[in-house]
Amino acid sequence: MDLGIKGKWALVCGASKGLGYGCAQALSAEGVNLVIVARGQSDLNDAAERLKAQAPSGTEVLTVAADITSEKGRSAALSVAGGPGTAFDIVVTNAGGPPPGDFRAWDRDAWVKALDANMLTPIELIKATVDGMAQRGFGRIINITSGAVKSPIDILGLSNGARSGLTGFIAGVSRSSVAAQGVTINNLLPGAFDTDRLKATFEGAAQKTGKPIETLMDGRRQGIPAKRFGNPQEFGALCAFLCSAHAGYITGQNVLIDGGAYPGTY
Ligand code: NAP
Repeated sequence: MDLGIKGKWALVCGASKGLGYGCAQALSAEGVNLVIVARGQSDLNDAAERLKAQAPSGTEVLTVAADITSEKGRSAALSVAGGPGTAFDIVVTNAGGPPPGDFRAWDRDAWVKALDANMLTPIELIKATVDGMAQRGFGRIINITSGAVKSPIDILGLSNGARSGLTGFIAGVSRSSVAAQGVTINNLLPGAFDTDRLKATFEGAAQKTGKPIETLMDGRRQGIPAKRFGNPQEFGALCAFLCSAHAGYITGQNVLIDGGAYPGTY
């Protein structure tokens, strides 16, 4: 299926690895020009080389090594030389998730950091790009949130709280006047995906419990109806479809991609 977005410009955050890279991969395979952001320059350069190698010729992949949760980082991402400035057609918001822990140990600074990364950063990126999209009559914004928005996990309280705040904001803004101007805004909610972040979580659990990492990973897989972790490519494919010309009537949605892990009917 031709997704009808060849030649558009996308800003993809947290894109040197994992889910963000999966999104960048699927978009660039469609001929979407990319500005990809991550903090580590070397991984970002490697990612850009791989993306260029698989994209149709003429597709651009520009890099910005920056912390997207900082004002300076966002400003660098939004004004990249050779790119479209704030004239992005597609924006994928994404950054690392907050650490696990006990809410009794989190002070105001811990909460402000989580809110900055997982709620206020996507809101700032939307603020900078959505009106331009609406004026041009086409826009797609995807926020990578978490399955924990629907099924909160107690030790991930910082994530549950910050991402739920973002989810409430998106429910409103996606249905504002921009909806009639060709702009869709949706959240993608990953369950367990095979990425460095997931591996790091299991390494931490293995150290804490003394159990082998494979035993812990197998236990988690068995709790998922699909009996496996997702891979970033299938996450990217869904992201690219939601960014496509065919998905213009889907907005304000929270789309789970979790192998059936969420047990509810709705
Ligand atoms: P990952 O494999 O660790 O990749 C994270 C990517 O984001 C890397 O490219 C990283 O590069 C970049 N990044 C992190 N913090 C950044 C920042 N402040 N500014 C710019 N780039 C940043 O993680 P992932 O598994 O893809 O997870 C992506 C998001 O989905 C996270 O918020 C995570 O909590 C959420 N999530 C993941 C899963 C899962 O199973 N994987 C499940 C639910 C939710 P640098 O470190 O070089 O910046």
